[in-house]
Amino acid sequence: MRIGAHVSVAKGYVDALDYAQRVGCECMQVFAKSPRQWRAAPLDRDHANAFQLERTRRGGFPLFTHTAYLINLTTSDDDLREKSVAALADELIRGSILGADGVVTHLGNDPLGDPDVAAKRCADAVLQARTRAAFTCEPARLLLENTAGAGRTFGGPLSQLAAVIAHTGLPTEAVGVCFDTCHAFAFGYPISDVTGWSAVADEIDETIGLDRLGLIHANDCMFERGSRKDRHAWIGDGHIGEAGFHAMLCEPRLASACVVTEMPGEAPEKDRVNVERLRALRESCA
Ligand SMILES: [Zn+2]
Ligand SMILES: [Zn+2]
Repeated sequence: MRIGAHVSVAKGYVDALDYAQRVGCECMQVFAKSPRQWRAAPLDRDHANAFQLERTRRGGFPLFTHTAYLINLTTSDDDLREKSVAALADELIRGSILGADGVVTHLGNDPLGDPDVAAKRCADAVLQARTRAAFTCEPARLLLENTAGAGRTFGGPLSQLAAVIAHTGLPTEAVGVCFDTCHAFAFGYPISDVTGWSAVADEIDETIGLDRLGLIHANDCMFERGSRKDRHAWIGDGHIGEAGFHAMLCEPRLASACVVTEMPGEAPEKDRVNVERLRALRESCA
């Protein structure tokens, strides 16, 4: 597993890459635009190309982008849905221009409490966004992220992500998943030990396919299992704990996925410390 962090691109992409390597990252995640706005100026192609060259020069440093939090692909509100499809298409284009290995997105809310309808609606929105993006470029790979399952959020159980993927009919290279450990634990997955991780790997294998697992968000969880509260804690400081992350890093079936942390706190400390903690746990796999 390659280990990295979500990093700021406030000073530009090449600067972010320098920063990531300085704090020990082997891969990274960024926002390709402000995550709290619907629209933004297009990416500067020259900057994006310079960034891609730098990544190649440094051995093809894996890159992931995360979409805006406003995107809601399962909504039954036509206006919000249209905005979400347009925003996702834009994110797929940005991801492609940056040469991202994956574009991570949350799915949205299921207002009816009917996961079958939500999965279908979500799949349709994904297909529409890809079609729109394809007018500009080959869309980047989309990674659907699981949620903590608070309120009506869609995508807590992995079976719901699997249903969306099945409805799209898209191949592995076009759509996969991002597994967030804090969200999974808050939803109820018992991933604080080897048995729990083994069961998760089985479930991914059987319902989604291990080759669809593009990224893991490694975040410890401030609240207890099943709390449905999405509050990230530093690695080892939460209820998943060191043993949980050790089991994750040593699970051979997850080995090809990249891992990034998304931590609260001050940079560079939060990134340096959490990346170092994960790397130390990986070192100690038998
Ligand atoms: Zn996440
Ligand atoms: Zn979260």
